[in-house]
Amino acid sequence: MDRKEFINAKRIVIKLGTNILRNDEGFISLPRVYTFIEDIANLVKSGKEVIIVTSGAVGMGKKRLNLSDTKGIALKQACAAIGQCKLMSVYENGFDTYGLTAAQILLTEDDFSIRERYLSLRTTFNKLLELGTVPIVNQNDTVSTIELIARAPEVEMQVNFSDNDKLSALVASELDADLLIILSDVNGLYDSNPKNNPDAKLIKEVDEVNEDILALASGVSDGGRGGMESKLLSARMVTRFGGKVLIANGKEPFIIKKIFEGQDFGTMFLPSDENLSDKKRWIGYATNIIGKIIVNNGAKNALIQDEKSLLPIGVVDVKNDFRKGDVISILDEQENEFARGIVNYDSDACRKVIGCHSDSIVEILGFKNYDAIITRDNITIL
Ligand code: GLU
Repeated sequence: MDRKEFINAKRIVIKLGTNILRNDEGFISLPRVYTFIEDIANLVKSGKEVIIVTSGAVGMGKKRLNLSDTKGIALKQACAAIGQCKLMSVYENGFDTYGLTAAQILLTEDDFSIRERYLSLRTTFNKLLELGTVPIVNQNDTVSTIELIARAPEVEMQVNFSDNDKLSALVASELDADLLIILSDVNGLYDSNPKNNPDAKLIKEVDEVNEDILALASGVSDGGRGGMESKLLSARMVTRFGGKVLIANGKEPFIIKKIFEGQDFGTMFLPSDENLSDKKRWIGYATNIIGKIIVNNGAKNALIQDEKSLLPIGVVDVKNDFRKGDVISILDEQENEFARGIVNYDSDACRKVIGCHSDSIVEILGFKNYDAIITRDNITIL
């Protein structure tokens, strides 16, 4: 794709990673941040809608307190509270210089996972964009429970995001953005690890984020939480609904301006023609998941190839407790997750009817809501 096509993108999410917001001493890199602000202000003035997803709060807080590390969840959460003020004061002053208004949005996992909150968040974003402001998003680390969940494996929850790469993809997906730009301190995706292989080549364009592409991911970046794998999964999510994604190096001077001049930087991920609907995106990516259902091969094929509903006869096991209406994970017999869906029965009812014909549901449960455990319209293949 000709990079000049970026010029046509109207709604753009730009993710700025920790390592490009600070300098080598760990202080905020004002020249770089002001350059981002200037470039973004010019985009907004040319009629584009830009949403920033910014990292850096924990890093700035740590520097402000002169700490050498942020071990311990409470300390990290405290650093986020301190650093977030610092970050926002820079953005607010910067955009104000260009006559624009910044708006802070701090989000946790539940803001996407709970459908009502997800929809209300979208309305707020749209209002802020309509008002001509620049929404600036970060994970609300100070109250976020994700790391607490990670420390309690018995909870066994799959969360929708735990780093800002995924957060930026969820925001892009929720807002139907045309383009997600992820700026970090890597040039893009290489065909092998450039840290170990001097001959590694930058991949300019990716048609589809498939297993071969995911296998190229290695390592987590130093300051932030995400790494290439998280960036690629984010690219997969966004391209599946028809958005474009660019991963590029934010240390390149005036990178945003150059991207919109059509210059060739980073790795570009092309949109797929799937056009995943908003509801299917939410089912597939936006919720936290506890419930799991294991299905046999026949059911797996019926779901993937024939886009059928999931009937009780194809289910072999039910794991964890869930309620009717929850999004649950659908696993194959090797326990690999391949789909997600909104379940029509709670876990107790599911356990009673697995392996049975749908006609016997009334007899077994004393009632019947649906023939299917999960209806096809409520299933997203991953
Ligand atoms: N929300 C974190 C921060 O502001 C960064 C998370 C990430 O880098 O993915 O420091």
